[in-house]
Amino acid sequence: MSEIPPFFHSLEHDKPFSTCLTCDRDFQEIDDPYTVTKVFKGPECVFEYATCLPCRRNLAESFSEESRQSMASFFEDNENLNKRSEKLAESSDYEEWTRECATCATPLSDLKDYSVACMGFGDHMVIDPFPMMVCSNCEETIQSKLSKSTRDQWDKFIFDNFEGPPAGSIKIDRVPILV
Ligand SMILES: [Zn+2]
Ligand SMILES: [Zn+2]
Repeated sequence: MSEIPPFFHSLEHDKPFSTCLTCDRDFQEIDDPYTVTKVFKGPECVFEYATCLPCRRNLAESFSEESRQSMASFFEDNENLNKRSEKLAESSDYEEWTRECATCATPLSDLKDYSVACMGFGDHMVIDPFPMMVCSNCEETIQSKLSKSTRDQWDKFIFDNFEGPPAGSIKIDRVPILV
């Protein structure tokens, strides 16, 4: 276990994420892991949030059965994920874990748009399969398989959680697979 690297800290607050976006519980006080997700467009992080595992599950459960199946099989059917777990078994360096797209293995250096996520527990980072990076090409592949109701649920999640001035600047046209 290692500490949450600054790369996964909140850009907005310039410190580690401390509470769940949805339920507001303090990550230091709960017995659940949490994930930090960041969406990059070019060099700029356009969107970031952290949610505890139960809230992340609730969001996923609001998605349609069909969409959940598509998202799950996208990862399950992917051989690269297992290979990378073997290859990086000894590493706790987030840069190594996010150097290539987790599903298509395209190097980060060849990518413009992508999403990254890490899993934390208290103030520590949990390794394998996170930290993870998925490229926008892979995200677009999965988008085409998502149902209208799932997209609506995602829009609702954004609306419910990002009210106020920042909401206008958030333009998330796709549901991150690393949701
Ligand atoms: Zn929560
Ligand atoms: Zn990819």
